Amino acid sequence: MNDEIVYSIAASTNINSNEISKYPIPEINELDINLSQLHRNYKIIRNLLKPNTKFMAVLKGNAYGHGLIPIARELENCKCDAFGLVRLIEAYTLRNAGIKTPILMLSPIAPYQVSWIITYNITPMVDNYKIVHYLEEHASNKNKIINVDIKINTGLNRYGIGSDKAIAFIKQLHNECPHINIEGIYTHLQDPDSNAEMTHKQIKCFDSLITNLEKENLRPKIAHIDNSSGILKYPEAHYDMVRCGIMLYGLEHKEGQITLPQGIASLITLKARILKLSTIKKGEVGGYGRNFIAQRNTKAAIVGIGFGDGVSRGWKEVLIAGHKVPIVNYFMDGIMVDITDLKEPVSEFDEAVIIGSQGKEQITWEDACRPLGSYIDEQIQHITERVPKHYFYE
Ligand SMILES: *Cc1c(COP(=O)(O)O)cnc(C)c1O
Repeated sequence: MNDEIVYSIAASTNINSNEISKYPIPEINELDINLSQLHRNYKIIRNLLKPNTKFMAVLKGNAYGHGLIPIARELENCKCDAFGLVRLIEAYTLRNAGIKTPILMLSPIAPYQVSWIITYNITPMVDNYKIVHYLEEHASNKNKIINVDIKINTGLNRYGIGSDKAIAFIKQLHNECPHINIEGIYTHLQDPDSNAEMTHKQIKCFDSLITNLEKENLRPKIAHIDNSSGILKYPEAHYDMVRCGIMLYGLEHKEGQITLPQGIASLITLKARILKLSTIKKGEVGGYGRNFIAQRNTKAAIVGIGFGDGVSRGWKEVLIAGHKVPIVNYFMDGIMVDITDLKEPVSEFDEAVIIGSQGKEQITWEDACRPLGSYIDEQIQHITERVPKHYFYE
C-alpha cells in the first residue's frame, strides 16, 4: 500500500522539467487518477494474452489525458514491454523522465527529426524508402544500429506500405541498410468494433504476408495488429505483441463498442467544489444570455469547473449530495446547476462530482458523452492542464 499523493499540473508534457511538478495547493477542482486500478486493468488484459505475447501500452495524447509520465512510470513498474506514442515531444518527455522502456512511434517521423530518433533511442515506424535512407545515413554517421517497425497498409489507408510492395521493401532494407534492424512489422485495424468482414480481410492479408516472409526467412521478430477491441474480439491475431490504448484506461472510444472484461474500470474521478449558492426568482435569468430563465424560484449552485477546464456546453448533469442535478448554464470557469429538487442540505464548497460516483449514484464517461454525441477519447482530451491531476493508490 502506498498513499503518496502527487499533484501534477502540466507535468506530463512540461519539457523543461524532468520531474512531475508537485503542486501543493488544494484546488477548486481536480482530476483523481487511481493507479491501483491501472495495475488491475493491466493485469486483467495481460492475462488475456499468451505469456510470450508482448504488451505495448499506447500512451499517445498525454496517455489518453491521464498524464504521460506518471502513467508511464506505473506501467514500467508493471514490466510493460513497450510504449506506443505519436509525437516526438512525447517520446522526449519520457526519456527525459528516465523511462527506459522501448518506444515505438506510431506515425511518420519527418526527415528533420531523424537525428533525435537516434539520440533518444526511439523506434520509428517506416513505410517508405526515403525516410529509411535518412535513417541509414544518420545511423551510419553515428555508427549506431537503429530498430524500425514496418507498417503495412491493409485497408485503413492512413499510413503504411501496400502488402504487395512489402517484401521488396524489406529486401531492399536488408541489402542497402546495414545500420537498420527491422525489429517489427504491423498493421492497424480499420473498424474492429463493428466490421468483422473488413477485419477478417485485413488479418488474412497480414497473415499471408507474414507466411510469405517466413518462407523467405525475412520475418521480423515482432508482428502485431490488435488494438483494444482487436485484443478482445480477434484473439487469433494477438501475434507477438498487442497495442493497447483505451481499454488500459478502463474505457472504450464510444459507448457500446466493446464489452470490457470483468474488473476493468476507469481510473478517473473528476470533481469540483460549489463556489456559490443562490436563489433565482421565477422569471429571472441565471448567468449570461437567455440560456437559463427560471421557471420557478430556483436554488442554483455555481460549480467551479467550466469550459476553461474542459466541461463544455452540452454536458448535462453532475452529482451533488449523491444525486444527479442538471447543468443549466456554462461559463469559462464554472457551470450553473439547478439544485431546487435536492432535499439534502447543500453548503458552499461541498464537492460536486462530474465524472465518477458519489453516494449511490454514478456518472460515467459514457453517460457524459451520450448527450454530446461525442467520443470518450475526444472529450478526455478537452480536460485542460489547469485541472490538477491527483494520483493515488487505494
Ligand atoms: C491509437 C492506436 C492504438 C491504440 O488503439 P486503442 O483502440 O485505443 O487500443 C493502436 N495502434 C495504433 C497504430 C494506434 O494509432
